[in-house]
Amino acid sequence: MERNTNQRRAIKKAIEDSGRPMTPLEVLESAQALAPGIGIATIYRALKSLAEEKWLVTVELPGEATRYELAGKAHHHHFCCRQCKKVFEMADCHETFRSIVPEGFKLESHEIILYGLCDKCAS
Ligand SMILES: [Zn+2]
Ligand SMILES: [Zn+2]
Repeated sequence: MERNTNQRRAIKKAIEDSGRPMTPLEVLESAQALAPGIGIATIYRALKSLAEEKWLVTVELPGEATRYELAGKAHHHHFCCRQCKKVFEMADCHETFRSIVPEGFKLESHEIILYGLCDKCAS
């Protein structure tokens, strides 16, 4: 029980500290520093239950592993670095695309994913 609590705390801290959506493998790498010996099966189980508790939400990008981020954030989009494969959060949505919706169409939702190189990979 004590061990489980510690591992769960490590997983939550890994996600809170990253500030971006993480894959289970990324959570594992980060959580290992706080909970040595933690395994990938524990990570998968914890992420699933944290999502069920609505503490996390899933982030799905086409052709990518499911990522997880903190629930309850304001509307935002993601930037996917094609080199390091990290996904970053963008704070804003300018919604300029509203002007390209054809006359008479009713826009209901949108998905925007930006691809490129993050600051580290671009330098
Ligand atoms: Zn990168
Ligand atoms: Zn948006």
